[in-house]
Amino acid sequence: MKVIVIPVTPYEQNCSLIICEETQKAAVVDPGGNIERILATIEKQGVSVEKVLLTHGHLDHVGGTEALANTLNVPIIGPEKEDLFWLEQLEAQSQRFGFPPHSSFTPTAWLEEGEIVEVGNIKLKVLHIPGHTPGHIALLDEQSQQVIVGDILFSGGIGRSDFPRGNQFQLVSGIKNKLLTLDPEIVVYPGHGPTTTIGHEKMTNPFLR
Ligand SMILES: [Zn+2]
Repeated sequence: MKVIVIPVTPYEQNCSLIICEETQKAAVVDPGGNIERILATIEKQGVSVEKVLLTHGHLDHVGGTEALANTLNVPIIGPEKEDLFWLEQLEAQSQRFGFPPHSSFTPTAWLEEGEIVEVGNIKLKVLHIPGHTPGHIALLDEQSQQVIVGDILFSGGIGRSDFPRGNQFQLVSGIKNKLLTLDPEIVVYPGHGPTTTIGHEKMTNPFLR
């Protein structure tokens, strides 16, 4: 799996274009906005996008979803269904985040813990890790040792848990049980900031001691 990170929105949210290099099929994860930038990257790579995947329902991660999915004529998959209330409040979120008004939408399908999402020959395993939002998921490719974690885990940090239905205890225990137990070599793509590894966060992240 090849991952191309495309920072979008004033929040510098890391949208990712994930590519199966065997088939040139691809998926866009968390298109928060700036869809012309995302479309230009897709075109430059010459790949065929099959779906949009969402890690959670915050506007800086989903703001460009409907426009992009409509342009590409592809389904919207994820997050876990507990994030429905966030997607239903996109209008209120646009005021809170200082974004242009944005209407609500419902994904084509929700994702569940343990489910496998295919992108070409890539098999992404869904890890449901609530706490930043209740329906937040991570997408793990065991074969290429990479995981996309949205706002669950950052280089040297963890996601905020002071939002409605946030829960820091749940977040930290989810990270410890489902991410820190993975191979330390696995590369971690957070929703904001630099890429890291499981091993580096396990050793140095002050929130996970
Ligand atoms: Zn978030």
